[in-house]
Amino acid sequence: KIKTSEEAIQLEDQHGAHNYHPLPAVLSRGEGVHVWDVEGNKYYDFLSAYSAVNQGHCHPKIVGAMHEQASKLALTSRAFHNDVLGSYEKYATEYFGFDKLLPMNTGAEAVETAIKIARKWAYERKGVKEAEAQIIVCANNFHGRTTTIISFSNDEGARKNFGPYTPGFIKISYDDPEALEAAIESNPNVAGFLVEPIQGEAGVYTPADDFMMRAKEICNKHNVLFMADEIQTGIARTGGLLAVCGHCTCESHCERQETYSKPDILILGKALSGGNYPVSAVLADNEVMDVIQPGQHGSTFGGNPVAAAVAVAALDVVKDEHLIQNARKLGKLFRRLLDDYIRESNIVNLVRGRGLLNAIVINDSEESSTAWDICMALKENGLLAKPTHGNIIRFAPPLVMTEEQLRDCVDIIVKTLKQF
Ligand code: PLP
Repeated sequence: KIKTSEEAIQLEDQHGAHNYHPLPAVLSRGEGVHVWDVEGNKYYDFLSAYSAVNQGHCHPKIVGAMHEQASKLALTSRAFHNDVLGSYEKYATEYFGFDKLLPMNTGAEAVETAIKIARKWAYERKGVKEAEAQIIVCANNFHGRTTTIISFSNDEGARKNFGPYTPGFIKISYDDPEALEAAIESNPNVAGFLVEPIQGEAGVYTPADDFMMRAKEICNKHNVLFMADEIQTGIARTGGLLAVCGHCTCESHCERQETYSKPDILILGKALSGGNYPVSAVLADNEVMDVIQPGQHGSTFGGNPVAAAVAVAALDVVKDEHLIQNARKLGKLFRRLLDDYIRESNIVNLVRGRGLLNAIVINDSEESSTAWDICMALKENGLLAKPTHGNIIRFAPPLVMTEEQLRDCVDIIVKTLKQF
């Protein structure tokens, strides 16, 4: 049994691949908005496992559903039916307003699934010539780590020496409807536009309020699928059920709001399980989803009974605990309190984001930033956050946070920044 953080880090270093550079916090317990390290130090979690733990650590309702299902039936594969998957699919499609759901496990798998569906739709419904389909993506995107997905990344660290790369992607600048329209008009083989409503990994780049609407209109006009990757932004994180819901605070899907840009393909992961289990999904209406027939796509674990039970419980919690409203309210407060500080600060340039997906930009360069040292000092002061892209620090606490806790966290952040 591990007794010290140092021991755990040393074991990982020696026996694990070095594919991450974690902050040196070795966590052994979590509850709600808090985590504890091996030495018993308590922290606010201000990353939420990259927005997976929206419902808070070890939520009793989700853990209960997982435990109950795991002790009854954990895996059948899709060679047989199970008695939970259909109920989950009905619940989730009604919750998000789509005809059908295709269950997978990780985010990257769901993105791959969406790409396959879009390409097949292009050949079989749009009439694109075989092997000619193109998908438009945005500069600085992050959609995962598979070979196809990194093929259209422009992060050199993620891409270099992993070629040959998958063709069939056109890159445009983010938040640029004119570029989208021009790219579509200059190529008749465009199957879809794959986009993050807010670019989380790139540093919480928040586009113009009408970008999603305009992108959707352009896609509609040209018979191109509008594919929203809401793996990080979805499920209450940005103060709407989805980030494409615009300004709507409904607790589940509705058609009311003027700003809702319903995707043709919706990609979810992370908080779909509250971070308790790898659960991802692609949702679409019949016209699109029905291009997938038996034997054409699947996964041993995708749609397993534990995942299905966990996802239903996780989505229930979002509704029951009004996490959309809480994220919206606390997000506004967070940005206002930090803005008050930033006005007098030399070290932070700005705070940006929506709901409880926010970031601050440190006033130095991406290549040599104090952001890492700031995160180390935040850790010493009881709050865990991580830099993304050098001089940007992302702040994404669990959405079950109270106002009092949020104010406490802002005090920690401001106190820490004043040390620099
Ligand atoms: N898409 C987006 C927008 C993400 O933020 C992530 C993960 O951070 C992914 C896809 C990939 O998800 P996973 O790490 O579960 O494969």
